[in-house]
Amino acid sequence: MSVVVDAERRFDPHVPVLIVGAGACGLVAALAACDAGAEVLVVERDATPAGSTALSSGFIPAAPTRFQRAKGVVDSAAQLAADVQRKNHGEADPRVVDAVCRASGPALEWLADRHGIEFVLLEGFLYPGHSALRMHAVPGKTGAALMAALQRACAAAGVDVLTSGCVTTLYADAARRVRGVELERPDRAIEAVGCDALVLACSGFGGNPEMVRQHIPEIASALYFGHVGNQGDAVRWGTALGAAVKDLTAYQGHGSVATPHGILITWALVMEGGIQVNAHGQRFSNEHAGYSEQCLPVLEQPGGVAWTVYDERRHRLGLEFEDYRQAHSLGAIRRGETVAALAAACGLPAATLETTLAEVERCAAGETRDPFGRDFTARPKLAPPYHGVKVTGALFHTQGGLVIDERACVLDARGLPLPNLFAGGGAARGLSGAHVWGYLSGNGLLSAVVLGRLAGESAANLAR
Ligand SMILES: Cc1cc2nc3c(=O)[nH]c(=O)nc-3n(C[C@H](O)[C@H](O)[C@H](O)COP(=O)(O)OP(=O)(O)OC[C@H]3O[C@@H](n4cnc5c(N)ncnc54)[C@H](O)[C@@H]3O)c2cc1C
Repeated sequence: MSVVVDAERRFDPHVPVLIVGAGACGLVAALAACDAGAEVLVVERDATPAGSTALSSGFIPAAPTRFQRAKGVVDSAAQLAADVQRKNHGEADPRVVDAVCRASGPALEWLADRHGIEFVLLEGFLYPGHSALRMHAVPGKTGAALMAALQRACAAAGVDVLTSGCVTTLYADAARRVRGVELERPDRAIEAVGCDALVLACSGFGGNPEMVRQHIPEIASALYFGHVGNQGDAVRWGTALGAAVKDLTAYQGHGSVATPHGILITWALVMEGGIQVNAHGQRFSNEHAGYSEQCLPVLEQPGGVAWTVYDERRHRLGLEFEDYRQAHSLGAIRRGETVAALAAACGLPAATLETTLAEVERCAAGETRDPFGRDFTARPKLAPPYHGVKVTGALFHTQGGLVIDERACVLDARGLPLPNLFAGGGAARGLSGAHVWGYLSGNGLLSAVVLGRLAGESAANLAR
């Protein structure tokens, strides 16, 4: 991955807007650029566009939306921004957070109204840190369904997506204006495409173990659960062009990946009253702090695993989610009519698990306070039969990246925009500050979708 300074090279073909990466950010950017009247080409390294987006749950926070209003939910962009900034302790760029949150509702309504992508509001429980019901998903409620909807929309809009093309080299002039790229085909053939504006939508560096070790050693030995093709190319090209990068220590982790099955277990189980215990049957954290930061305490437990323990009521909630159903059908979910029976099914010490659950019950009844600070009083207490699933902690995606402004234009160290370079999604500095605990649920797709739209519009405006 390199940048070559060469003002003389001629590119044929040439497109006004070139987008690297066909995940949510790249496809949304393409739709936005197309709507703004620009001819656009998306280049994707894989044979089939998928990215981390297809692996994700596909839940996008946005406010206010008509999907919320239809369900009587009162919310605002300012309230969403306040939640984002509360979670990251004010570490993200407030101008970008405000711009993204302001544009979030209009972005989903535009995708629905203009591009026929239907959204539903997820009801029934709040994700950690959110003060209103604002998670939206396509009806299939998976990232794969979101990708399928975006691909259909791109096809209908006439967007060209060139697959099996890994962009390797950016060509720029001395003023740091990107003039074109080289891409490598699976047979090693090299092709080149020129552009007036370039959108980097090729995500972060979660798939690059060396960069993860360098920037986020605390999670370097954990399972990487995101897209392996995300190799940090945006950060490397941007840095070579003199762009500023920030918050490279930030990431979305998760404390609930079924092991050894490798299936995401919805955090709704825990938000609604489930707990996590270690191999000794003991709790070890406030599980409500957030699923991202929960990856670390889980990994610190014996064997790097924990058991999420819940009951039939929460199990039925889990069955609303495709990945949970899959985990269930593969036998990852254990069941017991009593605590002792569940302990036997999970290989946990029955006496300790009984003590742990009795303690939780006292907390739920308000008789004692949780030593980890969790409030158990707001949800119905756990009741037999019980369920349990063995989970581990994982790295989902990195959150640091290229510093951008409110229009997704990439900035240099002095805060000046590069002439024609834009970034969004995992390629850009995210909304989570510098730490794992700064990730508010949904920050990933919020910046992929919304910054994708802003980047596509900005690139098209420049290219016209
Ligand atoms: C299991 C899981 C669950 C998640 N659930 C959620 C959720 O519910 N809500 C949420 O907000 N976030 C979630 N996330 C995070 C979310 O998936 C990401 O933040 C988001 O998908 C990033 O979108 P993107 O378009 O930037 O990147 P991606 O979707 O990863 O797309 C990047 C694309 O760029 C391509 N690419 C990379 N380098 C090159 C190159 N050199 N040349 C050409 N192409 C290249 C890649 O192949 C890839 O297709 C989840 C993540 C995981 C792993």
